[in-house]
Amino acid sequence: MSRVLVIGAGGVGSVAVHKMAMSQDVFSHITLASRRRSKCDAIAASVKQRTGVTIDTAELDADDIAATTALIKAVKPGLVVNLALPYQDLAIMEACLAAGVNYLDTANYEPRDQAKFEYSWQWAYQERFKAAGLMALLGCGFDPGVTSVFTTYVAKRLLDGIETLDILDCNGGDHGHPFATNFNPEINIREVTAPSRHWENGSWVEGPPLAQKQTFDFDQVGPRNMYLMYHEELESLVRFYPEISRIRFWMTFGDSYLKHLEVLTNIGMTRIDPVMFEGREIIPLQFLKALLPEPASLGPVTKGKTNIGVIATGTKGGAEKTVYVLNICDHEEAYAETGNQAVSYTTGVPAMIGAALMLTGQWTGAGVFNMEQLDPDPFMDMLNRHGLPWQVKDLAAPLAF
Ligand code: NDP
Repeated sequence: MSRVLVIGAGGVGSVAVHKMAMSQDVFSHITLASRRRSKCDAIAASVKQRTGVTIDTAELDADDIAATTALIKAVKPGLVVNLALPYQDLAIMEACLAAGVNYLDTANYEPRDQAKFEYSWQWAYQERFKAAGLMALLGCGFDPGVTSVFTTYVAKRLLDGIETLDILDCNGGDHGHPFATNFNPEINIREVTAPSRHWENGSWVEGPPLAQKQTFDFDQVGPRNMYLMYHEELESLVRFYPEISRIRFWMTFGDSYLKHLEVLTNIGMTRIDPVMFEGREIIPLQFLKALLPEPASLGPVTKGKTNIGVIATGTKGGAEKTVYVLNICDHEEAYAETGNQAVSYTTGVPAMIGAALMLTGQWTGAGVFNMEQLDPDPFMDMLNRHGLPWQVKDLAAPLAF
């Protein structure tokens, strides 16, 4: 029986609190706080209608460390679950230290003025969390999150050693819009327009954004083009599995998405530096975000499935072996259960699971942790029981590319 404070009333926050309300034995009291209280109240009404559970709501600017500390002290949670934007990570970690409470998030800190994805800022909190006897768990969504748990599970149970690892992220959903993003457009576009980067033989290999393409036949989705990208779990996987010689991340994009993105980039609409417009500074990407469909509005119209997994090649009993661990999630089923599409669902459910494991003491520690450092077994078990069942396939051969 524990109290939890969730910050961020977007799609991911909505899924997480719906799923928490469905596990009242663990989450006995839930408070949802966000920049606009109206969004929290709308989610609270949906939670009440779907589960019968009443949750508290609060308005909070999480960039304000003092205000966040005061709210944490008032709510007295066992854990703060940060599902706001990556920009708020450090401020919320500071507030957790000031209030003496554990912390969890799903995306690494990013400064607003540069699209730089690295854990250094948050790893720098290691000594302070350790000295305070507190735990901070980083990147507990699907990717990052489940992809690292799948890898840890492969290392623990399926292979004696991993030599190569590929993460394959396919969103086979169709929302009918020519261009829209399935999660926060600003964060999404910053990520996909960054240079590609993968790990090979002890160093990072960089390339232009979305320049390397392969076609892969995804189960229950079909053949899709996927592109080599940098993604933040690569950094923690390299740190905790230095023996893996090659680690790559691939994500699928449709031709219409890429065509729009290319034009928007060429004309400067994805820039994140300020430009003057009619006497005031605007950030073009933030203006673009205001024009695009809200990710939450895609829920009722998205059909199809996501298919995200890891393919690992290594040895088992002296012989070469390739395994594929994956989850398939249906957009319409996710929407029917929580009122949110599968991209929010596949992030919010792991956040709830990580929170449950911390609150029940199954995942403990003092300091800043990545998913690779924790026992995958209870997490894998809960994925199966809370809406994200996974499967393991033995592949006849390693990936041919
Ligand atoms: P949304 O943009 O839908 O939601 C973010 C929420 O945070 C909004 O409700 C927003 O308020 C609120 N917020 C923004 N700034 C502040 C602030 N200063 N103080 C308080 N609240 C604030 O994003 P998503 O729900 O799609 O994503 C949430 C997080 O999950 C992001 O960090 C994203 O990067 C991460 N993510 C992780 C994935 C993974 O697999 N690991 C996959 C997808 C997302 P308002 O509504 O007023 O704008």
